[in-house]
Formats: sequence, C-alpha cells, structure tokens
Amino acid sequence: MFSCIAAVHGVDEIPNVHVADARRYVSDPDGLLSPAMRDSLDRAIRNVWTQSSAELAVVVVDRIEGGDIDTFATDLFTKWGMGKKDKDNGILYIVAIGDRRAAIRTGYGVEGVVPDVLAGRIIRSSNMRFKEGDVDGGVAEAVDGLSHLLTTPGATEELMSEYANDQGAGNGADNVDLFGIWVDVSKVIAALMLIWLIIVLISSRKQGRYARYMKLKQLQLPALVVAFATIGMGLVAFIPLMVIMRRLRVAPRKCPNCGNAMKRLDEKADNAYLTPAQDTEERLNSVDYDVWLCPNCGETDILPYVNETKSYTPCPHCGARACTMVADRVIAKPTTMSPGRGAKVYRCLNCKNVNSVAYNIPKLPPVVIVPPVGGRGGGFGGGGFSGGSFGGGMTGGGGASGGW
Ligand SMILES: [Zn+2]
Ligand SMILES: [Zn+2]
Repeated sequence: MFSCIAAVHGVDEIPNVHVADARRYVSDPDGLLSPAMRDSLDRAIRNVWTQSSAELAVVVVDRIEGGDIDTFATDLFTKWGMGKKDKDNGILYIVAIGDRRAAIRTGYGVEGVVPDVLAGRIIRSSNMRFKEGDVDGGVAEAVDGLSHLLTTPGATEELMSEYANDQGAGNGADNVDLFGIWVDVSKVIAALMLIWLIIVLISSRKQGRYARYMKLKQLQLPALVVAFATIGMGLVAFIPLMVIMRRLRVAPRKCPNCGNAMKRLDEKADNAYLTPAQDTEERLNSVDYDVWLCPNCGETDILPYVNETKSYTPCPHCGARACTMVADRVIAKPTTMSPGRGAKVYRCLNCKNVNSVAYNIPKLPPVVIVPPVGGRGGGFGGGGFSGGSFGGGMTGGGGASGGW
C-alpha cells in the first residue's frame, strides 16, 4: 500500500482534519489507510476523547520534511496545541511510512499514563506490522495500545479536564451562548441605570429646577456609557434623562419676585446682563449662561451651565473659568529614592493673571529585570460549523520513536 509518488510534508501541510470536522481524528493526506480502517480508528479515538477528554490524534503520511520524526512530532503537537489547557492531555501518534519512522508525542499530563517506556513498546510492536507492509494493522495496533492505556479507570480520572471537548471551536452554539449572556447582563445593567434615574428623580423632587438639573447631570455620562455597553438597551434610561434635563432647563419659569412668567433670553440678548468675566466664559464656551428676565419687574436669574468637555479651570484671581495651562515644568526630577516636584503654569484668558500649581511626581519604580514571556501553544480558530478543536495544551517532548 505504498504510494508511487513520494509525498514529502512539512508541518504546515499536515491537514488538521479534526478542526475541519469534529468527528475526525486521523489525518491521512496520502491515503495510506483504507477508508474502512480510517472510520474505525476515528470511532475508537472519539471514544478516548469521550471517556478521558485526552486529545489523541493520529497522522499517517508517506514522508516528512527533514526526516526527523521527533522534531516533527513536537512541532506539529505544538502547532495544533493538542491537549486541554488545564491537563495538557494531548497525545499524538505519527507514522511516516516512506521514512520508515514512527513516534508518539505526549503532553505533560499524559506522561504518567503513557510513560516513555510503554510508548516505546507500542512503537516497536506496531512497527513490526509496517515492516510486513501492513499499514492498517500497524496504525490499528498503535491506536489500540494507546486507547487501552488512556481509558483504564485510574487514567481517565487523571486525564479528565474541566473543559469540554472541542470547547475552543468557533462553532455557532458557543457564540449564541455568549451573546445570550451579554444580552441578559445588558438587560440587568439597563434596568439598574433606570432605577438609579428614578431614585435621583424622587429624592430631588422637592429641590429647585436648577439644583435638580445639576443632580441629573451627574447621571449623563454613566447613562451614556451604559447605553453603549448594553447594545442600546440603556437608552431606556438615557433618553428620559435627556428629555427631563432639557425640560428642567428651558420650560417656562415663574418670577420669584412678582409671579409673572419669565423669559429666557437668547445668546445675543443675554450678553447685556453678563459680567465681562462671564462674557469671556461664554466666548470660550467653558460656561453657558441662561439669563431669565421678568418683563414685569425686571428681575433676572443667571444660571451657569459648565461645559465639562472644555478643560478651562477657574481663575484664583478673577474667578472666571478661563485658565488654560501654558507650561508644565519639572522642578526636581524623581529618583528611585525620592519623589520629584513639578509645576503647572496657568494663564487666565480673562484677567491675564498667571499662576502656577506645584505637584508631586511619584518615585521611579525600582529597576526590575523582566524575564521574557514564554508563549503557549495556541488553540485553533476557524473550522466549519461541525468543526472541533484542540484545547491548547503543551508537550515537554515526552513519548518515544523508532524505525523499522
Ligand atoms: Zn417679576
Ligand atoms: Zn482671571
């Protein structure tokens, strides 16, 4: 059953059949096994996965690139990320018929169940079959020997992972579950945001309109963040909040002096009632002033609405929210032993006053040598709807190999 044309495979060229189809575990790109044997092996290996959660896979090829089956097996094991992460229970059996070499590679967690000495015994007895030209019989003997070791009662307990088989597969069922959880959590968060709004509305009901507006304004940012994080469900709180705030700000108000209806002046007309400092603030858009005028008695109410998106700070000299930072100086550099000092220099765009604010700079962290972070064998994305996955486990190079 040898191929006429020698097919040499690199690690990247071995088809990961299990990722394409969760029911398959035997990669046989050169068609060296009979289809009946391949099906029979797939069923036997599926049984191992079910009973022990150990991730056994088989590769049967004609020839491998480089001819070094030990390195090849380790590279392929690592590339596929065989074994569940918590148990490292992957085990790979690979045979290169044309190279007359076979190897078993065990994950860290399988070394106790399939020690190198037993792996060597399985390799030697199955290689006897290959020597006789019986590829089906040799692979069956190896899988049979491994299955037996992996599914004995003590072994299954040692190997059993808390992760389900093929959990890493990007199939539809997993995504739906995650989305469902997100939707449920979003509902709860949106409901909590709405309850928070109602509590603030009730607790502030006896306060004046302006004070109430300021209370509600504190909910604006949280409600906006919630609306985004909950796929829009938080809008049930955000939209009423905006409507109520708008109404509190612009709805007609009564003159506290004579009881007549007051008028809210437009942006041009209100300038006549503002101080030069307030005028500067409006020009900088750091504060928006609403001027309410009673046409009957001339009473005015001036209500400031600070624009949080502008970075101007209040001036210690004239009080206008018109200071902008013009310099940030380091006065004393920090060391690992002592903190440093810095000074931020602000200039008021209203009164031109310059003031500086000193601040501490934290001590430098002690010098630490960071070791390079080692990467773990990655799992698999992709795959079709019925695709499986390996669990991202590692091998320490355990197992055995041999030729015939
Ligand atoms: Zn009035
Ligand atoms: Zn000033």
